[in-house]
Amino acid sequence: MRVYGWRSELMRLVLAVLVVSALGLIVGLGAWLAVALLLGYSIWSLRRLRDLNRWLLYQNQKEPPEASGLWGSAFDLIFQLQKSQERSQEQFQSAIDYLHDGLGSLDDAAVMLEPDGAIQWANESARRLLGVSEKQDVGRPLLNLVRTPEFIRYFEKEDYRERLRMLSPVNASRHLSISIAFFGQRNRIVIARDVTNNFNIENMRKEFVANASHELRTPLTVVNGYLEALADGGLDERWQRPLKQMQQQTRRMHNLVQDLLALSRLESLPVSDGATALDVCAEMSMLREEILAAADGAREVVIECDCQDKLLGSDTELRSAFSNLAINATRYTKDGDTIILRWYTEKDSACFEVEDTGIGIEPQHIPRLTERFYRVDPSRSKETGGTGLGLAIVKHVLMRHNASLLVSSQPDRGSVFCCCFPLENLQVRAA
Ligand code: ADP
Repeated sequence: MRVYGWRSELMRLVLAVLVVSALGLIVGLGAWLAVALLLGYSIWSLRRLRDLNRWLLYQNQKEPPEASGLWGSAFDLIFQLQKSQERSQEQFQSAIDYLHDGLGSLDDAAVMLEPDGAIQWANESARRLLGVSEKQDVGRPLLNLVRTPEFIRYFEKEDYRERLRMLSPVNASRHLSISIAFFGQRNRIVIARDVTNNFNIENMRKEFVANASHELRTPLTVVNGYLEALADGGLDERWQRPLKQMQQQTRRMHNLVQDLLALSRLESLPVSDGATALDVCAEMSMLREEILAAADGAREVVIECDCQDKLLGSDTELRSAFSNLAINATRYTKDGDTIILRWYTEKDSACFEVEDTGIGIEPQHIPRLTERFYRVDPSRSKETGGTGLGLAIVKHVLMRHNASLLVSSQPDRGSVFCCCFPLENLQVRAA
């Protein structure tokens, strides 16, 4: 590359003007020769400028126009800049192609979106799972192609912390798990994974548990019946203890089967639309009786009913959830402890709360309490006759009512279990 400093160009010009002026003086033309030289130089410079302009404008010539001196050096520098820009553009493009290649070979559907939700790029699986084709749909809004209502709600809410489960809009036998993430300038990438196999396995598991529990019910009833008959039949004294233990164990099995069936019903049945309304204050009086009947020893049960509105939802499910919390409070308290039942409204929720002054729970156990068969102290839970499924049932019931369970507890001081319902779940009383 020719690099030519402007000082050399200036020196050349000054030298030429001096020589030509001296010549002009010798031949008696004064400064005219120098003026002609400067004019010629200006015309030559203008032509180089024109060449540069044409070259940049039309770009049909690869190489820069021929020129000497400062102009030639400027042409070469511009040419070098162009070349390095082309090189970085190529590198950028090949990085994008590489990324698209990687995403393109995925079994999951991947769709990249502009900030306004228009499709920028989609891989091959997107056609199979979402009905989005890169060839035809680039530039079209994704929501014009994927019209599933829950997807539209999920997409527009822009809260993508949890994945969305939905059926494929092009093949209703496929189950998809959708995740969306923001990148760049609020561009989004939508990933859809086919989870049909997991869904089927999960369904098989649920059906198996439901069938097994159902099948166990009849033999259990028969065994229990015979045990009762034997107990009433005035059996030999030495058989009384084993008979009592057998009765206790069959009762536990019966409770377990009942809870497993309740859970599988909650998991498989659709949420009922024809919601009933539960009078929570009246329900609390019944829970009080239940607590007093179930407690071994005395409990002080306090009812604080600060809201007279009824709670909309499935009354059977809500009753079973509240009863599970009340019975837990009974199990994990001792003679003389207090249990408080509360029903009140806050700024944006209605709360049913059970507080007790019982044994409490260590903080590390709290996040896992609603897992099936999770027990803080297995030996103690068995002693109290618990199945380990009570709080899992509560969690499912609350999920079906768009509600959540909040637990706070301190070991040896007691616990508070609070069910928070959205205010829309209240049946507002007539004035
Ligand atoms: P379980 O039938 O064993 O009571 P749950 O699912 O109802 O099962 O409860 C899970 C665990 O949570 C219990 O084993 C117990 O350790 C703990 N737990 C539940 N309620 C209370 C409570 N009110 N006070 C202390 N611990 C509790």
